[in-house]
Amino acid sequence: MKPCILAIDQGTTSSRAIVFDTDGAIVSTAQQEFPQHYPKAGWVEHDPEDIWSSTLHTARVAFNEAEARGGKVEAIGITNQRETSIVWDRDTLKPIANAIVWQDRRTADKCAALKRDGCEPAITEKTGLILDPYFSATKLAWLLDYIEGARASASQGKLAFGTVDAFLLARLTGGAHATDATNACRTSLYNIRNNDWDADLLEIFDIPRVVLPDVRDTASEFGETMPSIFGRAVPILSMVGDQQAAAAGQACFRSGDVKSTYGTGCFVLAATGEEIVPSSNRLLTTIALRVNGKTTYALEGSIFVAGAVIQWLRDSLKIISNAAESEDLARSVSDTSGVYLVPGFAGLGAPHWAPDARGLIAGLTRGAGRAEIVRAALESVVYQTADLLGAMAKDGAHVSRLKVDGGMTANDWLLQFLADILNVEIERPRVLETTALGAAYLAGVKGGLLASFEATEEARKVDKVFSPEMGEAKREELLAGWRHALAQALHG
Ligand code: ADP
Repeated sequence: MKPCILAIDQGTTSSRAIVFDTDGAIVSTAQQEFPQHYPKAGWVEHDPEDIWSSTLHTARVAFNEAEARGGKVEAIGITNQRETSIVWDRDTLKPIANAIVWQDRRTADKCAALKRDGCEPAITEKTGLILDPYFSATKLAWLLDYIEGARASASQGKLAFGTVDAFLLARLTGGAHATDATNACRTSLYNIRNNDWDADLLEIFDIPRVVLPDVRDTASEFGETMPSIFGRAVPILSMVGDQQAAAAGQACFRSGDVKSTYGTGCFVLAATGEEIVPSSNRLLTTIALRVNGKTTYALEGSIFVAGAVIQWLRDSLKIISNAAESEDLARSVSDTSGVYLVPGFAGLGAPHWAPDARGLIAGLTRGAGRAEIVRAALESVVYQTADLLGAMAKDGAHVSRLKVDGGMTANDWLLQFLADILNVEIERPRVLETTALGAAYLAGVKGGLLASFEATEEARKVDKVFSPEMGEAKREELLAGWRHALAQALHG
């Protein structure tokens, strides 16, 4: 039987499971969407039971199919939507409330108050992060403060907090309580310099230490699945935040390697090796990986709305019936007729960090129709990337070639426009499931199934390179229009 690795990829809108062989080729896959809950303006929740049931279902489907095809799953890697916060009962493993999702802005006032108190510089110095509702600390504090009895139970050691990786680990193993450094570093409670939970941060955010998980290396022996899950115990050998997993899956290990993932949001990571590069331009400094006790870092830019704007066109405006249609519509017109769409649905992330900004469509004329608006939505994803790379360049991280992945990169028109506006080559790998691949790779190396990333030869093949074709004057004209629309979204 061929040794295989199961990657569990628990994303924002769906749970996926992919089994890879030791060449990095995909043996089987399964995917299931699950409901999003928007109880109030700016709030986004998931039911942790949906997270669990969709994970379990897809993991079992992929596992069984791989084994029916002669594979033997010998290791599991978990990668997950980051920052999303869950508190559960240590005995029953039942959540005390819905998960507060990374996009949720309910703690914007709390963050503003901490900012007024002058807390941000110390937080940034220790965590590499901005003070923003995006990160877990204020979400966890909210759960402890607003769910009845939670603070008291927490202080008695009855409750456990975790990001999605830790919650899935608890459910898969029957109670282990651990996370990895790439997830811990997104909570705002973790000191990326000395690699530990930080007493000062716990005090600032009013979090009792007792609720927090153990933090391990990204590739570690996290525990074994209960035999009831797959019919036998299988070791869980990696846990890694989705963006760091995608960077690993794109082999962005060396300083200067850059990847950009276009899923619900867009996340650009530029590896900086063992060096912690603080940003002067409101980017995040984040842990890329911790392997064999060695921590490597990255600069990150996070855009909250990328593919989500296409979902909005489909589900709210109902002007497309599926995401792929956006490509045909964009191609059907030669430009947007001056229309710009700023998708600030959840405020704007890097490099602006404006939680109160809201979206807009600017430049409408009588000639603007469905195709122009759809094209403007796709273009907005590219312009936001341009803003990020501009900030990265100011921090000293110059990009000459960008490796892309994620659901949106199926759109060739988008990638050509990206190459044109960024004026860099865009490289799309043949295996677009780089997030799952990264988690599988880390688990595979830990389990001795893979010697190195080079072994995943199949997965590393390049599908297509998009080269810039647009002239400088046109690029500048388009970017000037974007900056004008953006200023309106930011400043009204
Ligand atoms: P996530 O992991 O965040 O759930 P995925 O990587 O699966 O996201 O990407 C899904 C996103 O990509 C959706 O928001 C969808 O609207 C968008 N998408 C998928 N196909 C296309 C396409 N051909 N053109 C534009 N957007 C697309």
